Amino acid sequence: MIKNLMFKRQNLIAWLTLVAISVMPLSAIAQTPIKLHSNKYSVQDDVQLGREAARQAEAQFPLLRDNEVQNYVSRVGERLASSIPSQFRHAEFDYYFKVVNARDINAFALPGGPMYVNRGMIEAARTEGEMAGVMAHEISHVALRHGTAQATKGQKYGLLAGIAGVAGTIFGGPAVGQLAQAPFAVYFLKFSREYENEADTLGAQIMANAGYDPRDLANMFQTIERQGGGGGGFLSSHPSAKDRYARINREAEMLRVNAGTRDTREFNRIQERLRGYPAAPTMAEIQRTGQRYPSGENTGNYPNNAPRGRVEYPSGRFQNVTIFNGGVQVSVPNNWRQVGDGNSVWFAPEGGYGQVNGQPVFTHGVSFGVAQTNSRNLQSASQELINSLAQGNSNLRTTGGFQRTSLANRNAMFTTLSNINEATGQREVVRLITTQLRDGQLFYMIAVAPQNERNFEGAFDTIMRSVRIND
Ligand SMILES: [Zn+2]
Repeated sequence: MIKNLMFKRQNLIAWLTLVAISVMPLSAIAQTPIKLHSNKYSVQDDVQLGREAARQAEAQFPLLRDNEVQNYVSRVGERLASSIPSQFRHAEFDYYFKVVNARDINAFALPGGPMYVNRGMIEAARTEGEMAGVMAHEISHVALRHGTAQATKGQKYGLLAGIAGVAGTIFGGPAVGQLAQAPFAVYFLKFSREYENEADTLGAQIMANAGYDPRDLANMFQTIERQGGGGGGFLSSHPSAKDRYARINREAEMLRVNAGTRDTREFNRIQERLRGYPAAPTMAEIQRTGQRYPSGENTGNYPNNAPRGRVEYPSGRFQNVTIFNGGVQVSVPNNWRQVGDGNSVWFAPEGGYGQVNGQPVFTHGVSFGVAQTNSRNLQSASQELINSLAQGNSNLRTTGGFQRTSLANRNAMFTTLSNINEATGQREVVRLITTQLRDGQLFYMIAVAPQNERNFEGAFDTIMRSVRIND
């Protein structure tokens, strides 16, 4: 019976395949087929996640306010978006393109269509085609709904995983050192190699449809190599660049390129225009200063004054707070307030936080965040996080080894560090508790108080015990 059924099934598949081939236009047969991954999110979820992430991104990245550059990039983007093969189009998606005033050679796209193209990428490209290649690759991640597909594969973790999984950059994410404490770190999640290859393949197909030479996408890898990886550590962290170059070129041989323009005058004029601006900051610099604009515009999240270092005792009354869009629940003293949102959240008493030289500084309080680490081992992942924290805090020292503990009913690591507070110059104790999310990312809680103030320890313990994670 089973055998018989199998036979019938094979017959059916063979028949379906035959039909599929006979109705496919000849030119399409040679293209590498792309399969859609299972996705438990709706297309409308993509749109909403992307909208929320775009709002956060635009609160954190400095956009280049230049209509001529902006309009030019939009025109190229729209030409590509209208060249997406029909089976990968979603009427609900709205592709739009904004230029970020950042030096790194990169770009990222959010579900549903918002795309951010770094000024450094436009400046690095040798031709419009190379720039369009990066954009076509990013459009492909969106069209193939890779963000929510990835979130589907991993355990659902509220919006935290949703957002964490939604965006990929063309060249993968920065090292964990750049990720720590970055509110926008989650935008740089690395997709699997499989997803990257699919985005390269579809990207090449979109290029050909739009009248660009698909090989320009491959050429962009070489352009980046020549520029030393664009400062993002691309060469060191992505040894697969050569494979991708070869694969895209193989795909290009199978594609028929539609008629398009090879006029580079407009591209050259835009590059000339960009050269007239002062050098753009790197993403890391934007992150360090916590400022969207070099002029020192307040981010709005932090009062523009240094913390006083003298604060009320933590209230014995606690309030439940939900953060990361329902992903994490925690109780904090009810005389503390939440500072920052997105994916790096602090709770601190009045006077326990502020800014020094444009950087947010906390003297008292707790922070929650998520970091992508190279290691899946909890202790080495935690060590990676400490190393990256130390990069931005030269006085940070480990004072004890790792101790096993538990956080949210799962295995966790606890360690203490000492630091000199940037605002007060006082020695402070930093407690770090880490655990792993089901998708392998490192979830951490950091608690900070001056060394001579022991009255915060009870509050920290209560907060730590209250953490609930829904992943
Ligand atoms: Zn990608």
